[in-house]
Amino acid sequence: MERIKEIINLIKDPSEEDKKLILKAFQFAQKKHENQKRFSGEPYFNHAFETGKNLAELNMSPTVIAAGLLHDIIEDAGIEESIIEKEFGKEVAFLVNGVTKLGRIKYQGAKRHRESLRKFFVAVSQDIRVIIIKLADRLHNMKTLDYVLKHKRERIAKETLEIYVPVAYRLGIRKLSRQLEDLAFPYVYPQEYEKTKKLAKEKDKEDAKKLKNFQKSVKKALAKNNIINFITDYRIKTYYSLYKKLLKKDWNIEKIYDISALRIILPEISDCYNVLGIIHGIWRPLPGRIKDYIAFPKPNGYQALHTTIFTGDGNLVEIQIKTTKMHQESEFGIASHVFYKEKKKTTANFSWIRRLLPLGSKDSFSKIKTDFEDIPGWIKELVEYQEKKEDTSEELKSDFFKKRIFVFTPKGDVIDLPIDSTPIDFAYAIHSDIGDHIAACKVNGKMTSLEEGLSNGDIVEIVTSKKNKPSPKWLDHVRTAAAKKHIRSYLQNNN
Ligand code: MN
Repeated sequence: MERIKEIINLIKDPSEEDKKLILKAFQFAQKKHENQKRFSGEPYFNHAFETGKNLAELNMSPTVIAAGLLHDIIEDAGIEESIIEKEFGKEVAFLVNGVTKLGRIKYQGAKRHRESLRKFFVAVSQDIRVIIIKLADRLHNMKTLDYVLKHKRERIAKETLEIYVPVAYRLGIRKLSRQLEDLAFPYVYPQEYEKTKKLAKEKDKEDAKKLKNFQKSVKKALAKNNIINFITDYRIKTYYSLYKKLLKKDWNIEKIYDISALRIILPEISDCYNVLGIIHGIWRPLPGRIKDYIAFPKPNGYQALHTTIFTGDGNLVEIQIKTTKMHQESEFGIASHVFYKEKKKTTANFSWIRRLLPLGSKDSFSKIKTDFEDIPGWIKELVEYQEKKEDTSEELKSDFFKKRIFVFTPKGDVIDLPIDSTPIDFAYAIHSDIGDHIAACKVNGKMTSLEEGLSNGDIVEIVTSKKNKPSPKWLDHVRTAAAKKHIRSYLQNNN
């Protein structure tokens, strides 16, 4: 029972209700997993507990933490969703059910990489919290991977590296993607791991000492300029990201300047530029290494000022200067935004997800046939993906994003469509009744033709009217099986 405090203490100002919910989920999961053991021999409940705790560390809401504690209760304890709903309400039950469904998707190797990724993203577009719980679950599984049967280990680690890491990265949750990739690394590439570790170890010791001294000089310099409201820390590159960099630099660790970096975190953007000026006034920067990612964010939305300076004793150090908000975003990404949605803020806050999307290249891809009749559209599309010819793994990864677009309702819900879809597809994806009565549509606030192809990140609003009805020529302007089916059946039944 003491353990519950480890979770509660991570929550910012929990209400009595929040505490009650978490305590109840804790006790419920403990009871239902009673007598069950993990491969390691420890009680199964430990896994549920650690998953909940991982979520609390990501600043997730009590609802999500409760769902995390209960995430294996359907699959491994045979509890029905209706019971969870009765005990914990609709939202928790929905999340637990979502995680259960997602868990049933089995990784089929690189061949079906795209399929797995796609399923993941379908789940994301339904509720991002389901994915975050799944990532927290995977994190604990990776930490205990040593206890899993040997032949399974490699598969799980590979799946982590190929599916979970890109998803976490794509969602901007660097805190998770880094941990997951480092946990998977020794299982997937054991030799490379050893080699990287050896190189890093020699370097790390030197670096840590130097950085500590340098950090002191920076603090002094800032204090002298009356800047006292800041945090500095340093980060050492994780083994896996060091490994990726080593591959690019012919395994020459001396060519990598950002193995360790000093971070300076400040309240305001203007403070960041001010501090950059102070630093450059004292230490000489390395030309070509000054990056203003505040004015020009990286494609994934990352913001900071980076510079590499000569410390004066023959060393180079990378300095990253950012605001607290930027730091939060770079560590937690989407996870730092889900709270907004839950608190039902009226203004749609989804600019973050638009940033995650690649710019659409609409015409460079051949049409995907979407002519299926009976089963739900999204299942058919999955089958279709599976049938596509095999590509190299790198291509597979980008391919997925190039063949799908993600557009938004005015409220910020994500709709996942094949590329070249039109507002008509969008309308039918929401509801057949909306599709059957489209009167007009607005894309990004402007009136647009119904036949115009949509692009990633578009915000689409459909105006309906009871008088309007589908036209046969729409069939030439839709990409999804669902839209085709509904238009055809409307035409058949109403003519
Ligand atoms: Mn689990």
